[in-house]
Amino acid sequence: MTVAMILNEKGRDVVTARASDPVGEICRTLSEKRIGAIVVTGAAGQIEGIVSERDVVRVIGKEGPAALEQPVGDVMTRSVVTCSDGDTVNSVMARMSAGRFRHMPVVSGGKLAGLVSIGDIVKHRIAQIEREADQMRDYIAMA
Ligand code: AMP
Repeated sequence: MTVAMILNEKGRDVVTARASDPVGEICRTLSEKRIGAIVVTGAAGQIEGIVSERDVVRVIGKEGPAALEQPVGDVMTRSVVTCSDGDTVNSVMARMSAGRFRHMPVVSGGKLAGLVSIGDIVKHRIAQIEREADQMRDYIAMA
């Protein structure tokens, strides 16, 4: 199973923000869109960072409500781990688990082409395990 199979089902739209956007606006978008992370892009659409609810909680916990005025560029993670369409879901899961993060932007031809979350991966893994169990049951019933 590949990343492309997940994106074909969920779509390739990615919620993005600019590094100058205030943290308060990021909170609003995370809440309105019911998502856990936003990719921060530059003028040419290039990935500059990623900000997740964890980053927001960390900075508000440290600095209080004043953090809401801060530009997200000061809070985001700059070294973003990305994957591509052809990567297997298992390899993405392993990298998320090793890096302790739950979101991974997908890059295709140097451009942002989707985002997979740990939720997407768990959903597809469960569907795969159920399919395999059904096949096993059918095989046993035939024997
Ligand atoms: P998350 O588990 O996705 O909420 O993120 C936990 C931490 O990892 C936060 O500091 C994020 O900014 C960071 N993070 C999330 N996704 C990635 C990624 N693909 N590459 C690098 N850092 C990430």
